[in-house]
Amino acid sequence: MAKVLIIGAGGVGQVVTHKCAQLPEVFSEIVLASRTEAKCKKIAAQLSTPIETAQVDADNVPELVALINRVKPELVINVALPYQDLTIMDACLETGVNYLDTANYEPLDTAKFEYKWQWAYQERFEKAGLMALLGSGFDPGATNMFTAYIAKHYFDEIHTLDIIDVNGGDHGYPFATNFNPEINIREVTAECRHWENGEFVTTPAMSLKQGFTCPEGVGSFDIYRMYHEELESLTKHFPTIKKAQFWMSFSDNYLKHLEVLGNVGMTGIEPIEYQGQQIVPIQFLKALLPDPSTLGPRTKGKTCIGCVVRGLKDGKEKTVYLYNICDHQECYQEVQSQAISYTTGVPAMIGAKMMLEGKWMQPGVWNMEQLDPDPFMQDMNQHGLPWKVIEEPGFDLK
Ligand code: NDP
Repeated sequence: MAKVLIIGAGGVGQVVTHKCAQLPEVFSEIVLASRTEAKCKKIAAQLSTPIETAQVDADNVPELVALINRVKPELVINVALPYQDLTIMDACLETGVNYLDTANYEPLDTAKFEYKWQWAYQERFEKAGLMALLGSGFDPGATNMFTAYIAKHYFDEIHTLDIIDVNGGDHGYPFATNFNPEINIREVTAECRHWENGEFVTTPAMSLKQGFTCPEGVGSFDIYRMYHEELESLTKHFPTIKKAQFWMSFSDNYLKHLEVLGNVGMTGIEPIEYQGQQIVPIQFLKALLPDPSTLGPRTKGKTCIGCVVRGLKDGKEKTVYLYNICDHQECYQEVQSQAISYTTGVPAMIGAKMMLEGKWMQPGVWNMEQLDPDPFMQDMNQHGLPWKVIEEPGFDLK
């Protein structure tokens, strides 16, 4: 039984709060805090059990410290934006509280997607006897667990990793993003990096694509190679990996809109001056686009996210595919959110549960794959994200 403080009342915050509230035997008390308290109250009103809400600016360490000291949680679940990771980690260190997030720190002025800033906290968390769990969403998060589980149970040594993230959902808008538009567009427009023979190789964004047919009739999609942050930690923690790539599905329509927006400068992250005011184009674009948390009722179709791993078992080459399929409408019925927020929020709750139940709790800063995947994978099956394994799936991946 533990008290948790959830920071961030967006699409993901809504799902984490619902999922924690479903398990009062683990999360006995929940406080939901965010920049706009009205959004916390709206989520609280969806629940059958009462939770406390609060206002906080998570860029401000003294404000965070005051809130944490008042609430006295055992764990802070950070589902605000990646820009707030370090301030929240600082506040956790100052108040002696454990930490969890779903995305690595990014400085506002460069879309970098690197763990170095958070890995630099290793010694401080270890010395304080506190745990920080990094990237407990779906990708990163479940994909790290899938890789660790496959490596543990199916191989002696793993050699190639392809993470394939397909969203076969349709929200009916000409253009919208399924999670925070600013973070999503920064990620998609960044240069591609993949791991090959001991180093990251850089290629232009969206320059390699292939077709992919999902299992169980989800459909066939074009998937594009892009950089994703779990490649950094997975290649570090599984040094036998020779090649690691991340693929995501995009429709022609999405890419055409993005190309035009990019060409006219609307996806820029550098401030420009407009009528005497400094405006960051991508932040202005965010204000124009549909709020991802409103997509739930309109999004139909399924996501299919999984890992294809090749390697050696008993001296023989083999391939294993482990995946989850999630239905947007079923998620909406359960927690009033679409599947992108759902697939992120459920692993955040499970990561928190692993820590609070003592299965994973240990001092230091940890990526998911450094911890035992078995209890996490068991909970995925029980809490809304069941997965399956196909041995020798017969994919012919680039
Ligand atoms: P949203 O934009 O929907 O929500 C973010 C929330 O954080 C909003 O409620 C926002 O407040 C709040 N917030 C922003 N800045 C501050 C601040 N300074 N102080 C307090 N609160 C703040 O984003 P999502 O819910 O879609 O995403 C949340 C996180 O999850 C992001 O870090 C994202 O990168 C990550 N993510 C991870 C995935 C994974 O699989 N690992 C997949 C998808 C997302 P306000 O409402 O006032 O703007």
